[in-house]
Formats: sequence, structure tokens, C-alpha cells
Amino acid sequence: MMSGRARVLRLAALTALVILIATAAYFARRALTEKQQPYTQAGFAMGTFVRITVYGNESAKAAVDDGFRRINEIEALVSTTIQGSDVFKLNSAPIGVPVKVHQDTAYLMTSAVEFARLTDGSFDPTVGRMVDLWGIGTENPRVPSEEEIMQALAGVGYQNLAVDSERLEAMRLADFFVDLGAIAKGYACDQVVNVLREEGIEAGVVDLGGNIRVFGVKPNGRDWRIGIQDPSASRGSYIGTIDIASGAVATSGDYERYFFRDGILYHHIFDPSTGYPARRGVRSVSVIAPTGMQADALSTAFFVMGVEDLFDCVNRWQEVEAIVVTSDRRVIVSSGLADAFEAVSEDYTYEIR
Ligand code: ADP
Ligand code: MG
Repeated sequence: MMSGRARVLRLAALTALVILIATAAYFARRALTEKQQPYTQAGFAMGTFVRITVYGNESAKAAVDDGFRRINEIEALVSTTIQGSDVFKLNSAPIGVPVKVHQDTAYLMTSAVEFARLTDGSFDPTVGRMVDLWGIGTENPRVPSEEEIMQALAGVGYQNLAVDSERLEAMRLADFFVDLGAIAKGYACDQVVNVLREEGIEAGVVDLGGNIRVFGVKPNGRDWRIGIQDPSASRGSYIGTIDIASGAVATSGDYERYFFRDGILYHHIFDPSTGYPARRGVRSVSVIAPTGMQADALSTAFFVMGVEDLFDCVNRWQEVEAIVVTSDRRVIVSSGLADAFEAVSEDYTYEIR
């Protein structure tokens, strides 16, 4: 027989245990909810809207702040207009004189030259003079004369950009301006993801003006769903969606920065072989690739190439997929995306290639 005292003790111990379990369960659940709660911060950098969403860390804000800081750091190095940026210094240095650059810049320039080689010059980081000449996206865009275009075109050619990534030096071998606008945002996405991961963030989405990179497992276990913009409709109207487990999506389109003159649309993606905005019947190209940098550079290159050439590349290269919207209202989806893509617009016809 238990004594009265022992019974009281046992009851007390049991009560304590129940309370302990309940408390633990409460905190475990709260931790889980916290983990599933997204934290989002939006801002403006690199000339575009930035949106970072993360899951799974109590210090989310601090990590995201550091992510934004990293973007500003990269912008300060590669902006064409910020005096003192590496690109600004290189563009103002005499031809044939090496300029010291930071590691990020050297890496970006080396990669840019590689993408130029890989795409046979459809992507070309030496198109800076074209950008200045046309002024698309500025207050005073204009159609330059044939002569001006020929002059500005004379120095264009990625072979004339020399980068020494060991000595951290870059040099212009001809009269052109470097412009990393078609690759830097994708690279910045990758860098933000690195920063977030280092700070313990397990999952999230970084969107830098349409350069999107996802990482980690979404708390609900599903793939990340990304909308592909309808080039003819208001922002947020999609031609379709894709579901991806990881990686990056970037879109280059003629609807981002453009102006009309005499009924003709002039946009900001140049064909480095002509000096004019690329015109190959493409309205937008979205590229899905492992890194933001690849997706960014290739979406620009593919836009310039046009449907036939770009699908040659996509079907040859593992890990690269594309969604193309054409001027005659077709949406062409690479075969690797057949399951991941979902059409949502009745204004287009859809095909898999
Ligand atoms: P966005 O900047 O709108 O995201 P892109 O990634 O396609 O679009 O980059 C376009 C920018 O890249 C232009 O504003 C210009 O600075 C630069 N650019 C234009 N044409 C080319 C090209 N053929 N190769 C490399 N860079 C380019
Ligand atoms: Mg790009």
C-alpha cells in the first residue's frame, strides 16, 4: 500500500510531467509555425525592384538586410554610372591600360566573356556604347543615325575585353564600353542566396527585377511556383507558370524598357552584330538554369538568337530550359519543362519543343 505522502508525490510528479510535455509541445509547434512563416522584404537596387522572402530562421531580418547589402556592394562595383565603380574606371581608362578590379568584377567579366564565346557573341558585354547611344530607358531615347551606329559598333567585340582573374585586372583592347547589365543581376541573386545560407536560412526566394532564384525546401514540401509574365498584358498577368524544386529563372523581354518611334518599338536588348535592338520575332525568353547568372546571361543571349538557334542550344545543353513567347502569339516550351509548365492564357497557342 502506498502511503498518503507517496501518493501525493506521485501525483505531483505526474502533473509536472504533463505540464512539461505540454510546454515542450507548445514550443515545438511555435518553432515550426515560425519556421513556416515567410519573412519578406522589398526594396530598390540595381535599377530594379528587389524582393527577398525567407523561411526558417529567427534572425531572418538580419540575414535579409545582409542580402540587400551584398546587392548594393555588387552594384557599386559594376554600375556603368556610379563614378568609382570598377566598370566606370575601366570605361574611362585609356585603351590598352590594365585597371585593377575587385574579385566580383573579375569573376563577372570572365564569366561574361565565357557566355559571349558560348553564344557566339549574341551575348556581348562590350555593347556599352550601343546602350549609351540609344538611351533606351532614359528620359531621352532616340533612334541614332546609321553612321553613329556604325561608329559605336566598330569597337564592339568580347574578344577585345581582356581579364586577368589572377592579378585582378581588366583591360580594353579596343574602343568600347563594358556593360554587365545583362548578367550582374543574376549574379547578385546567387550571391544573396550564399549570404542567406551562410546565415542559417534554409529556404527562400530572391527576386531581382525578374531574375528569380529559389533555394531550399518550401515548408509545405511543394515545388516553388513561378509565373511567366505575359509580354502584352499588365504586370502580374501570366502566360503560364512553372514549378521548380531549385535553381533560377530569368526573363528577358522587349516590354521592360522600350520606346516607340514612327510606330516601331525599340527595346533595350541589342543585337551586337547590327547595333539595333534584336528583332527575331521574339517577345520574351525565360531561361531556367541552375544559377541566376546562367539564367540571366542566357535569357539575353537567347532573345538575340531567335527561336531556331536558341532551341538548338537548349536541346544541346543539359540543365538549361526555356520558355519563349513569340511575336505571333505562340508560347514555345522546351521539352524538359513539359511537366513543370502550366498554360494559363487563352490568348496564346502552346507548343513543346
Ligand atoms: P533586364 O536588364 O531588363 O533584366 P537583360 O538581362 O536582358 O534585361 O539585360 C539587358 C541589358 O543588358 C541592357 O539594358 C544592356 O545594358 C545590356 N545588353 C543589351 N544587349 C546586350 C547583349 N546583346 N549582350 C549583353 N548585354 C546586353
Ligand atoms: Mg539577362
